[in-house]
Amino acid sequence: MDVITEIEQANAIEKYLQKHFSDLERCSPYNENILQEFLKLGPFHSFIPRPLGGCGENSASYLKTLETVSYYSLPLGLTMGITGSLFIMPIVKHAPSDLRNRIISEFLHGTPLGGIMITEPTGGTDIFGLQTSLSATQGGMLLNGAKCWGGLTGKAQHWLVAARKMQDGKLTRSLNLVYVPLSSPGIKVHTYFDALGLQPIPYGETRYSNVVVPEEHNLTPGGKGALRVLYDTLFRSRMNIPAIVSGLCKRLSEESAAWASRRTVFGQSIDHYDQVQFRLSALRGFAQINHCIRRFVGTWMDGHDDVSGDYVLVNSVKFVSSTTMAIAADSAIHLFAASAYKRNHLVGRAYVDCRPFQIFEGSNDVLDDNTFSVLVGRYGRVTPEAISQELEKFRLHMPSDLPKGVLDALDVREEGSQRQRVQYGRIIEWIVVRSLVEYIGADQKVPVEDARRVTNRYIASCTAELAYL
Ligand SMILES: Cc1cc2nc3c(=O)[nH]c(=O)nc-3n(C[C@H](O)[C@H](O)[C@H](O)COP(=O)(O)OP(=O)(O)OC[C@H]3O[C@@H](n4cnc5c(N)ncnc54)[C@H](O)[C@@H]3O)c2cc1C
Repeated sequence: MDVITEIEQANAIEKYLQKHFSDLERCSPYNENILQEFLKLGPFHSFIPRPLGGCGENSASYLKTLETVSYYSLPLGLTMGITGSLFIMPIVKHAPSDLRNRIISEFLHGTPLGGIMITEPTGGTDIFGLQTSLSATQGGMLLNGAKCWGGLTGKAQHWLVAARKMQDGKLTRSLNLVYVPLSSPGIKVHTYFDALGLQPIPYGETRYSNVVVPEEHNLTPGGKGALRVLYDTLFRSRMNIPAIVSGLCKRLSEESAAWASRRTVFGQSIDHYDQVQFRLSALRGFAQINHCIRRFVGTWMDGHDDVSGDYVLVNSVKFVSSTTMAIAADSAIHLFAASAYKRNHLVGRAYVDCRPFQIFEGSNDVLDDNTFSVLVGRYGRVTPEAISQELEKFRLHMPSDLPKGVLDALDVREEGSQRQRVQYGRIIEWIVVRSLVEYIGADQKVPVEDARRVTNRYIASCTAELAYL
């Protein structure tokens, strides 16, 4: 593609998306032709920094693109997220320069896709239990094992695969991330899954049998473990999710408001009903929350080369964005009611497609527990002061208007059961996002009134639930 400015490219992409994904009621998943034409517009160039030939100035460049694409099509936004966040970004940042330049050149001059394979048939949460192995062989390593649920299974040509080093016939704890092209001999897609949603994105089980991986394809050569690289990759990718959610929630909010103004019940449009206005306000709130997060994390990621220790921030934005998108889709389908309960309706599809965001990139339950445990590990126990100190690390401040009941509940004297830790984790995560919303609202003068109301509601309801766990 010729060198064009970021703005020209963004305009071309938006025009293309408008043409193909504006229809609310005839919303079909993208097909191969639409995808190829879209890829020719170079959407991944914003993930590639200018010195490498792309048009990415900073994180805001690709986050804005992700937000726009997801406004029009959630599966296309996720396709971009998989290839951009989980493949191109770690390659740009961590791959040896020869390998990096070769792969990036393909993304600059062609229309390939990429992805990451961590999860195995035995599970995704326990990355120390992975069974896929790398053993030394002449001139490199041999990869053996099975992976499942890799987004774009069988379709993406470029993969990063997580595997443990094998030594003396035993799996070690040393985790490695290796580049493996799909064309390598010994790779076979064993099964394609009949996934519940996200239809155009293929999922399945891929098997690796004695696949030769040159040492130069290891993202951490020289026998170093890749845990930090893996965390940095996953943490950045989790921070990119709110851009996808921001686009979707904005669309759901706008479409719902437009629908509510034209749908008539008992002689008046439904947006006259107080309950409908309440839902519309929450939908605006979810869009505002995720827009604020998208802006905040862009600046944060640019200012911090290593985010692998930022558990509380990362967990908070991933938990709140994936939770709010599901609540938003649920509320929107309620407003559209029967008319959206169709496979070809944008809102009906969003309702199904949103669910796995709470599962992939770290099951939310596990992240919530981790948030609590990290605070206890750092500050001895969870208190409002400990949360304040953690917030200051991100240059954020404890909201000044939290009710006394919430502050009292946050003075946790005993570690308690896991369900309590998870619930406290959620309250902390909502508070982190509430403080981030206040910061962006004041700093960038974006509306946050609805976002404030909705975050307060969830902080209050999570706190009230503590008594009944
Ligand atoms: C649509 C979709 C796309 C995906 N894309 C990819 C991809 O591109 N690449 C990839 O590698 N993987 C991908 N995955 C897999 C995903 O990352 C895993 O599903 C996820 O990590 C959870 O693993 P699991 O499904 O094996 O659940 P498990 O690990 O079996 O966990 C099941 C549940 O048990 C509970 N649980 C587990 N551990 C704990 C704990 N320590 N404390 C408390 N509760 C716990 C939680 O409720 C958890 O949700 C995708 C999955 C889906 C559905």
